[in-house]
Amino acid sequence: MPQKSPYEIAVEQFDSTLPYLKLDPGVADIMRVPRREVTVHFPVQMDDGTTRIFTGYRVQHSTAAGPAKGGIRYHPDVTLEEVKALAMWMTWKCAVVDLPFGGGKGGVICNPKEMSLRETENLTRRFATEISCFIGPMTDVPAPDVNTNPQTMAWIMDTYTMHTGKQSLAVVTGKPIEVGGSRGRNEATGRGVMITAMGALEAKGMPIQGARVAVQGYGNVGAISAYLLQDQGAKIVAVSDSRGGIFQADGMDARDVMRYKAETGSVVGYPNTEAISNEDLLALDCDVLVPAALEEAIHAGNADQVKAQVIVEGANGPTTPEADEILNGKGKLLIPDILANAGGVTVSYFEWVQDLQTFFWSEEEVNARLRQHVTSAFDQILRISQREQVSMRTAAYIKAMSRVAKAIQLRGLYP
Ligand code: NAD
Repeated sequence: MPQKSPYEIAVEQFDSTLPYLKLDPGVADIMRVPRREVTVHFPVQMDDGTTRIFTGYRVQHSTAAGPAKGGIRYHPDVTLEEVKALAMWMTWKCAVVDLPFGGGKGGVICNPKEMSLRETENLTRRFATEISCFIGPMTDVPAPDVNTNPQTMAWIMDTYTMHTGKQSLAVVTGKPIEVGGSRGRNEATGRGVMITAMGALEAKGMPIQGARVAVQGYGNVGAISAYLLQDQGAKIVAVSDSRGGIFQADGMDARDVMRYKAETGSVVGYPNTEAISNEDLLALDCDVLVPAALEEAIHAGNADQVKAQVIVEGANGPTTPEADEILNGKGKLLIPDILANAGGVTVSYFEWVQDLQTFFWSEEEVNARLRQHVTSAFDQILRISQREQVSMRTAAYIKAMSRVAKAIQLRGLYP
């Protein structure tokens, strides 16, 4: 059977939630399709003096609730279909945590691992120029995603500022602190994962003290989730990265494993642990599983083997719809990506607010407001899931789609 594209999966998730909502069919049709899809082809001068043409995309799925919001990805496998799906998921993610944003996403087909810093800067500045008519603090606010980082955002902000002739800190988020970034942004996604994992354990009547946690993907999201959960009393029994995994039944020091990975390039080989495969990690006897690596890690072929009672999606789209059904059937509590990893975009929102006011908050203030947003969203979604007898994913979609539909109805059709 041909594999579904991420956009087909995103539309399937949307369509399967429609029966729970009494939506005007016209409003549902507006929400099913992206508002704008921009494709650009642009030249970049490479270090050897040659000129290469690159292709990039910016998709604004919805701007009903506010400016579009979502990252820019640099990867050889970027496709318009993928960017459309990610943009749609951003609309729902922002709505789940009550942010005044719509959803967007961007990408450039390139391999930054084979490009020099100068080539990456040239590509970024020209791409920012090509999409500069569509982005802006009140229209569409990009952020980092796979293979883009705070430096990339600083270049985009500077390029946009050069075009407009006005300081425009709020045109992108995820910037370095020195040029308008927010304190707490780096840890924000992992912090949201920790807060929602704690909520899920409480809902299941399981204590955090001694809870056995396995984390697939020990990057920004995975490693930070791990050490924040450890700080709450959990035991990190297994972690992995693209080279493999490690297991220690008594738990390992999550921060020290992070240091080891930074030094050696991988978690594999960390002292006093057993080597395990990524597949073994997913099937491990543990209490909480955090998939924080790739899309479609849990699928129809391995969902049956998952033993953890609580699954918290650090990554975007790590569970296929078929796997979702299997996990639900077994009574697992799965916290969906649009809630579990919404901590990142929530602090991006705080960054945008701070930039617009040019007034910056302490890390304590950022973390306190983040906790309030994520906890309130978690509680609302848990209530919807109990009332409607549906999974947390469907409940999160019910909340998000109702909110966006309401915004569309209140605004009415223009002209
Ligand atoms: P990252 O690049 O920092 O980390 C990804 C980790 O996954 C790396 O350690 C990598 O080695 C590992 N990995 C790759 N392939 C793997 C495999 N097959 N098995 C096990 N591990 C593998 O990326 P990140 O920022 O932590 O993002 C991870 C996921 O979280 C992505 O889906 C991303 O879209 C999502 N996400 C990130 C943020 C954020 O703020 N960083 C916010 C929301 C969602």
